[in-house]
Amino acid sequence: MPLIIDSHQDIAWNMLTYGRDYTRSVYETRRLEAGSVIPERNGDCTVGWPEYQRGQVAAVFATLFAAPARKKEVGDVIQYADYETAHRLYREQIDIYRKLADSHPDKFRLIASAKELDSVIEHWSQPVKDDEGHPVGLIYLMEGADGIRTPRELAEWYDLGLRIIGLAWAGTRYCGGTGEPGALTEDGRNLISAMMDYNFILDLSHMDEAAALESLDRYEGPVIATHSNCAALMRGAETNRHLPDPVIRGLIERDGVIGLIPLNSFLKVGWLRKSGSRREEVPLDALIAHIDYICQLAGDANHAGIGSDFDGGFGVQSIPLELDTIADLQMVGAKLLERGYSEADATNILGGNWLRFLRKHLPG
Ligand SMILES: [Zn+2]
Repeated sequence: MPLIIDSHQDIAWNMLTYGRDYTRSVYETRRLEAGSVIPERNGDCTVGWPEYQRGQVAAVFATLFAAPARKKEVGDVIQYADYETAHRLYREQIDIYRKLADSHPDKFRLIASAKELDSVIEHWSQPVKDDEGHPVGLIYLMEGADGIRTPRELAEWYDLGLRIIGLAWAGTRYCGGTGEPGALTEDGRNLISAMMDYNFILDLSHMDEAAALESLDRYEGPVIATHSNCAALMRGAETNRHLPDPVIRGLIERDGVIGLIPLNSFLKVGWLRKSGSRREEVPLDALIAHIDYICQLAGDANHAGIGSDFDGGFGVQSIPLELDTIADLQMVGAKLLERGYSEADATNILGGNWLRFLRKHLPG
């Protein structure tokens, strides 16, 4: 079974907002949360360490995330009304990940270099006894850059192990974002120019098209989209959340990778979660169509990946019908083979493309 690298999971946000313990299995978490408000607000859990093992999920991009206070619907725990608070909230999530890795070194490992990445991948190639498993690598991803107070602060974030920065979630002081269109601001231009000094990886997901295109022009470092689908397959969706073709083309030209999201509302225009069950079903083939769209534009299978965003504000009720937990992402590989992709291509899309990209751009 190929290894999976998943380019987006809000692990710390779930731990802080819902008290989720990701060393537990999905089923244990569902049992513990049954009857609470959590399944109603965030859906039934889809991520847990035993399921990472079952699905061979070797590494995930683990977000640092806080929402601006004007976005009331996101929950009330990790919100900021000013940049000092944003900084503190983002910084605290580094501590959450450190504690998680320190207290469960057999289960989670922090990755900030190609060497640390290779050590985790090497572990996954070794046989393990029944009751043991492999450590899941966590690569920090800052989603929304309002936690960075000045470009000078990048040195501190780099020392903490941060390697990937997305400037937007909603709009930030740096650029327009989801639901809040706009170009790069002067602060945004200064920030990306400072990011070059450290070769930070720039995540264009959530950035408005104008900001993303200008960033592709200006930023000479590595560029990716960790969790976005293709706007061309979502015609009629009234959102700037999906990637327009010019942004996809720019990412491909720069040898970037795009993590596609198996989230029903990002696969079928107008899909809405009905409380409780999955009454409006979306097949996994809808995700494959987005992966295939990237591969057709690229003329190869080297630029598509999976950025599940699982548990990131939604649960099992909002993902394609064939999927129950993160372990089932392996079905994406089987679907690609059915569609005529080679084994090598499917392996690259599940994890190989992210692996190649990270080996190239993380420091040695
Ligand atoms: Zn997001």
